[in-house]
This record gives sequence, C-alpha cells and structure tokens, in this order.
Amino acid sequence: MIDNLIYSLGDNLYLNITNRCTNRCVFCIRNFTDKIGDKRLILNREPSSREIITSLKEINLAQFKEIVFCGFGEPLLRVEIVKTVAKYIKESNPNSFIRIDTNGHGNIFHGRNILPEISPYVDAISISLNAENDENYNKICRPIFQNAYNHLLDFIRQSSLYIKNVTLSVLNLPYVNIDKCKEIAEKLKVNFKIREFVKNL
Ligand code: SF4
Repeated sequence: MIDNLIYSLGDNLYLNITNRCTNRCVFCIRNFTDKIGDKRLILNREPSSREIITSLKEINLAQFKEIVFCGFGEPLLRVEIVKTVAKYIKESNPNSFIRIDTNGHGNIFHGRNILPEISPYVDAISISLNAENDENYNKICRPIFQNAYNHLLDFIRQSSLYIKNVTLSVLNLPYVNIDKCKEIAEKLKVNFKIREFVKNL
C-alpha cells in the first residue's frame, strides 16, 4: 500500500498516480509545498494498477460524486494505468462519474491520439488552458515540448469529439487574460472554469 495514493476532498475521491509532469508551471503548487491541506502528496514511487485497484477495493465507491484521476503531476502520462483502473471502477460501480484533470499534453507525450482509448471509461475531462496564447503559455507553464500550446488546443478539440463533458480551466492570475481564455473556450464549445490561486493550502 502506497501512502498518498488515494484521498478524498469534499465529495470527491482523488487518485494520485504520478509526480511527473511535462510542464513546469510558475504557479505550480509543487513549487511551494508537497501538501494539499494536511495531506502530503509527493509519491515515493508510482503505484501499479494492481496496487491502485487493491486500495479501491477497500472503499465504497458509490459514496463519491466524482472519482478524479490527478497527480501531483500529469495523470495521462500513465494512460495505461488510467485505462485499467477506470475500467475496473466502471465495472465494479457503473454509476461512478470519472473525471481526469490534465494539462492536455497526453497526445504529444504518447505520439498518438489517446482520446478514443480513454473515452469509454471517462465521463469528464478538465484541461488546464492557463494562458490566452502560445507566448504567454510558454512563459507561464514552461512546457518541455515545442509548440505545446497548439498541441494543447488540438487536444481540446479531440476531447470534445470523444468526451461529453469537457472543461477548460484557468487560474485567476494577474498575468493571464481571462477574457481571452473564455473566448477560446466559447469558440471550442466547451465549458470554462476560473480557479482561484491558493498558494498556501
Ligand atoms: S501542469 Fe499542473 S502539475 Fe504540471 S507543473 Fe503545471 S500545475 Fe504543476
């Protein structure tokens, strides 16, 4: 059993499956702390799908509004784990609502379109847009990939083809043009959410 792997917050259950990420955002909580609330979220190692499923077997999944794949990093870097675990969740509790919180780099990272692979098990995807254009994205998120913002926009388009509930999120930061981000979400016909930046959780 790995500590920090699964935690509940509000009505939701969170699956923390990796510390790795393809961004190095200036605002990333990991720059300030290794905790959310009193929960230390840095993993000592990445859990296997078997370990995650073993932990889930001890939990009544029906009590949660959403089951969220997240990380103290980017969960879709481990797409095979996401697929295996999400399939288990849907088979054991078909009414579960599964969401993925992602930076939208899954397709560039894997070099293929992973949306058709995950869509059978995923009800919602929340994608961090974080900036209104390529230049600001590179400054704020410092992605490891060239042309990451255009790939991110393409990931959003693909998501809306395969997943019913797609949300773009931005943090309420002074150096982000929120109105322009909202226009992008409207143009792409997806939901839009502004999240508050909390440095000291
Ligand atoms: S995408 Fe998320 S986990 Fe990755 S660096 Fe940015 S805020 Fe942190």
